[in-house]
Amino acid sequence: MRIVVIGAGAVGAACALALTDAGADVVVVDRAGVAGETSSRCEGNILVSDKGPGPEADLAIAGNRIWRQWAARLDGERRRGQPATEFDAKGGVVVALPGAEAGLSAFAAAQRGIGVRAEELDAARLRELEPELSADAGFGVWYPDDAQVQPSLATQAMMACAAGHGARLLRAEVTGARVHVGRIRAVVTDRDELATDAVVNCAGPWAGEVAQRLGVRLPILPRRGTIIVTAPMPQRIFHKVYDADYVGAVASGDADLQTSTVVESTPAGTVLIGSSRERVGFSTAHTLPALSEIAAKAVRLFPFLADTMVLRTYTGFRPYAPDHLPMIGADGTVDGLFHAAGHEGAGIGLAPATGLLIAHAVLGTPAPADPAPFLPTRAQPAVAA
Ligand SMILES: Cc1cc2nc3c(=O)[nH]c(=O)nc-3n(C[C@H](O)[C@H](O)[C@H](O)COP(=O)(O)OP(=O)(O)OC[C@H]3O[C@@H](n4cnc5c(N)ncnc54)[C@H](O)[C@@H]3O)c2cc1C
Repeated sequence: MRIVVIGAGAVGAACALALTDAGADVVVVDRAGVAGETSSRCEGNILVSDKGPGPEADLAIAGNRIWRQWAARLDGERRRGQPATEFDAKGGVVVALPGAEAGLSAFAAAQRGIGVRAEELDAARLRELEPELSADAGFGVWYPDDAQVQPSLATQAMMACAAGHGARLLRAEVTGARVHVGRIRAVVTDRDELATDAVVNCAGPWAGEVAQRLGVRLPILPRRGTIIVTAPMPQRIFHKVYDADYVGAVASGDADLQTSTVVESTPAGTVLIGSSRERVGFSTAHTLPALSEIAAKAVRLFPFLADTMVLRTYTGFRPYAPDHLPMIGADGTVDGLFHAAGHEGAGIGLAPATGLLIAHAVLGTPAPADPAPFLPTRAQPAVAA
């Protein structure tokens, strides 16, 4: 079966790998190359800690397990010159600043109810795990299963592995489709027309625009995020550390600026400090208010950061679905058309599980989680673009 995957970000690369593994003849089309967009303008957290009970948590738990298997495979099969995933099962520490303790404790209790390992930490244990934390932080929760990858490299590693098993990559822009008697027959690009049996739309924040070019509707919008990268520093942050108010910022659908501190150190010694959420279309202008707010909140968590030099900042666009759940599965109006988009701030963590859900939808292989909550045919609340 020939399948065209549109988009070579983390989600497209994972779909390409899962479909190739299942025996399909896969062509990946991307106008920007591998990890040319959001999947290189993000962080690489693979979190089970930030989701309350529900379908996304179920997918994240499955995804966390699959990432461990895939990272071992990708790093093991890696040929000379190919990137490693930099998978690091370092665990996460969620910190409640004064006033947020009871909320975090209740959230963690609910997560334990669905099998997430979440251990409460008093001030002494917090300091043992993260000596540089602010003295204001007196309560936290330890999530041993949180992990991270280097998202751009991990995406390249998935694509290289898929290519090693026969997938092909075409650098081109998808402009339309040939649909005959309700079934998609070909993808039209600015270079070639690709005859196909099935198409998977993995165009990230552009998935709505691509859907429109293919003649269907998908309500995916961009939600901007900004990250600060510090210079390498002598102090160390040993785990993924974030402020308990992060969960509220993720769940909010507000178009206005939301910020919350997520701190992630990298093997190179730099620290990534994120992040913000705002719906401003694809504009990259006026990021200073978000950056100032992120910096101020990060210093509240780790006071030593006040004296740290900023190396650079960057901006990406999360693919946002109005009900905050990714849209994975058959389009429902055009046969042979599938979508895998709308993962918002969790597309790296959920990529391998999404790949397997798509292989299930297209080829009938086993699903890693219940596909029903993610079907693109579900009703969505209306939001302004
Ligand atoms: C600041 C920030 C921090 C984040 N942190 C995390 C995190 O810690 N953990 C996590 O799991 N997620 C995180 N995310 C979210 C994550 O980055 C995204 O969910 C994920 O990268 C989406 O991957 P994707 O493959 O769907 O999209 P993309 O990586 O954007 O890939 C889509 C691809 O489609 C291509 N494309 C679009 N239109 C066309 C067309 N017409 N023709 C051909 N190609 C086309 C683009 O060129 C692009 O390469 C973060 C995001 C941001 C912005």
